[in-house]
Amino acid sequence: QATINKIAAGEVIERPASVVKELLENAIDAQSTAVTVEIRDGGCSLIRITDNGCGIPRDQIPTAFLRHATSKIRSADDLSTVASLGFRGEALASIAAVSQVELISKTADSFTGTRYQIEGGIERGTEEVGTPEGTTIIARNLFFNTPVRKKFLKTPMTEGTHVAAVVEKIALSHPDISIRFIQNNQNKLYTSGNSNLKDLIYTVFGREITSNLLQVDAVYEGIYITGYIGKPVIARSNRNYENYFVNGRYVRSNLISKGIEEAYKPFMMQHKYPFTMLHFSIEPETLDVNVHPTKMELRFSDGEYVFKRTVEAVGEALAHREL
Ligand code: ADP
Ligand code: MG
Repeated sequence: QATINKIAAGEVIERPASVVKELLENAIDAQSTAVTVEIRDGGCSLIRITDNGCGIPRDQIPTAFLRHATSKIRSADDLSTVASLGFRGEALASIAAVSQVELISKTADSFTGTRYQIEGGIERGTEEVGTPEGTTIIARNLFFNTPVRKKFLKTPMTEGTHVAAVVEKIALSHPDISIRFIQNNQNKLYTSGNSNLKDLIYTVFGREITSNLLQVDAVYEGIYITGYIGKPVIARSNRNYENYFVNGRYVRSNLISKGIEEAYKPFMMQHKYPFTMLHFSIEPETLDVNVHPTKMELRFSDGEYVFKRTVEAVGEALAHREL
C-alpha cells in the first residue's frame, strides 16, 4: 500500500490525448512493430488503437482492467528502475471507468481471440472471436458518465490537435515502430518503422526544418546525447519545438530546456526558441520518472550535471555549424 501511495497516481485520463498516450504505450510495451491509431471527433466519440503485439491471454483480460492489478512495481526501490513505459497498472482501469471500451485480443498460442466489453467500469460481456494476433482497443464516448469532466473537453478540433501531438511524439521516439494515424477517416501520419531520425523529422515537421538541422552526437560519463537541433535561423516564438526524449520516453524537463536555451543564447534573439530533437540516454538509477502521474516531468539525481552536459552538447553542435 505504501508503494501505491508513493505512486502519486492522481488523474491519469484528462482528455482523449491521455487515452491515446496510455494505449500507445501499452502497444509498445507489448512489442508491437505496427500500430494504427484512429480517432473521430478529436477522440471524443471514438479512439481505436490496433497493434500487432503479444496480445492478452483470455483469462487475463478482466484482470488487466483492475486498478493496480498489473502493477509491475513490487517495492519502492523498483520505482527508479522500471524499464517499460507502463508500470502503474491503472491506465486500462481508468479508461474503462470513463468510457465504453471494447477490447479484441489474441495471443500467438491461442486459436481464437477474445472480445471483451466494459463500460463505465461495468463488464458487458466476453465472447470468442476470430482475429489476427495482437490487440485492438476501442474507447467510445469519453466521459459519457462524468458530464462535469466532459464539459472540460475543448472542441473536437482542439482535442484532435492534442492527440496528433501525442502520436507524433511517440512516432518520433520509436523510429523502429510503424505508426499510422487516421483522423476522421483521413490519413494524417504514417511512419514506416525503418526510417532514421531525420526521415521522421521530415515526415512530421516538413522541409524547412529538415533542411536546417545540425547533428548532435555527444558521449559523456553516464550520459549520451544524440539527435538534431535546428539552426538559429529556424527559431520559433514558443517552446513547442523543443523536443527531447530520455531513455526513449518523451518528457518535459525544465533543466534540459534551460540547458538547450543557454547554449543557444549567443545565437538567438530574446523570446525565440530552437527546434530540437534530442535523445538522452541516461543511467536509469539517476532518474525519477514517477514525479508526475502522466510521467512527463522528470527529476534527476544530479540535475546540475545533466544541465551542463546539455549546454555542452548543444553548444558544440552550434559552434561547428559553419564547417
Ligand atoms: P500497465 O501498462 O501500467 O501495466 P495498463 O492498465 O496500461 O497498466 O495495462 C494493464 C495490462 O494489460 C498491462 O500490464 C498488459 O499486461 C496488458 N495490456 C494492455 N494493453 C496491452 C496491449 N496492447 N497488448 C498486450 N497487453 C496489453
Ligand atoms: Mg500501460
